[in-house]
Amino acid sequence: MNLGQDLITITQRPDTVFSAGQGAWLTDENGKQYLDLVQGWAVNSLGHSPALITQALLRQSQQLLNPSPAYYNRPLLDLAERLVALSCFDRVFLASSGAEANEGAVKLARRWGSRMRAGAHEIIGFEQAFHGRTLAMMSASGKPGWSELYPPMPGGFAKARLNDLASVERAMTPRTVAVMIELVQGEAGVVVADPGFVRELRALTAERRVLLIADEVQTGIGRCGTAFAYEQFGVEPDLMTLAKGLGGGVPLAALLCKESFNCFEPGDQGGTFCGNPLMAAVGLAVVDEVCREDFLAGVHQRAAQLSAGLRALVREHGLVGERGLGLLRALVLPSERAGEVVAAAQALAPVGLLLNAPRPHLLRLMPALNISAAEVDEGLALLHRALREVLG
Ligand SMILES: *Cc1c(COP(=O)(O)O)cnc(C)c1O
Repeated sequence: MNLGQDLITITQRPDTVFSAGQGAWLTDENGKQYLDLVQGWAVNSLGHSPALITQALLRQSQQLLNPSPAYYNRPLLDLAERLVALSCFDRVFLASSGAEANEGAVKLARRWGSRMRAGAHEIIGFEQAFHGRTLAMMSASGKPGWSELYPPMPGGFAKARLNDLASVERAMTPRTVAVMIELVQGEAGVVVADPGFVRELRALTAERRVLLIADEVQTGIGRCGTAFAYEQFGVEPDLMTLAKGLGGGVPLAALLCKESFNCFEPGDQGGTFCGNPLMAAVGLAVVDEVCREDFLAGVHQRAAQLSAGLRALVREHGLVGERGLGLLRALVLPSERAGEVVAAAQALAPVGLLLNAPRPHLLRLMPALNISAAEVDEGLALLHRALREVLG
């Protein structure tokens, strides 16, 4: 039997079928357990099947599943209120995926540009950036090769280099309406933007009446140790998108904007599942848990522990280094063997370790934000064994 023979091929997966998850742990159909440092790509902020989420799902599914996006529902209003209270933004649009939220940000910026900036519509993004997989978001992303994958691609997306303000100035034209940035480039390999650059970028965009869009799909909702990563860069973006950790495992995303950019007319934007109460109820439970000060203090502690442990592995195995912000971290290898380390880690016995390699020379670690100190230590010990197997 070839696993997945009925599926349209989209990626290479290991020959494992996962059947259960609890906290930091996944179990496969053979009963083997794995410590999971992938967590759905930084999605499961509270780990696998946390009671908080299963209860919110049960409660809301019995109460009201889907009244229609044409009507208000209470979880939609409550989650929007909570996100506004926590952030520098005034308005919220809920969606189902990061790419969809980012598309909404581009639409809102272009709407504003058509009204306030004489039709300015170009968006500047950054090389290596990742904003999702719709056609327009592939154009907005800076992944090499993506602009040629499905021609013709949507236009109006220019590229600059992260931490290079002159490259942003060169890309700006009178038609530029926004700059879109990941404050920590996740897919690119956990590349943290230089705070000085981000502040200069904020000043430049404000001066030119160009919007600053923060794609916090991966960095938002506690992942980096604060509710939103922008808080650590000393700037306020004009628009922000969230997804991944916001839903804690269910498809939920958000676009947030300041009041002055709240310029959609009724009918300009929407979607069948936008503001769905089932997902919004989960988002509300996640935000209330993760964005508490004591919870975020725990994220800082685990991040410091993980970072120190990774630095020890760097010394022990002669690696290049470790980096990151909060519990979004990367380990840089001296050679392009990250895929081998991922496979070796999964194959460890009696328990395996799940890792992610977004680049051939780099491992990305995105544990649950409530991972315990003992589980971090166990993960580091398993990683040590996998590195020894591959690198000797
Ligand atoms: C994952 C991700 C996206 C895309 O989110 P989807 O939910 O997969 O559409 C966009 N931006 C960033 C920074 C991401 O990490």
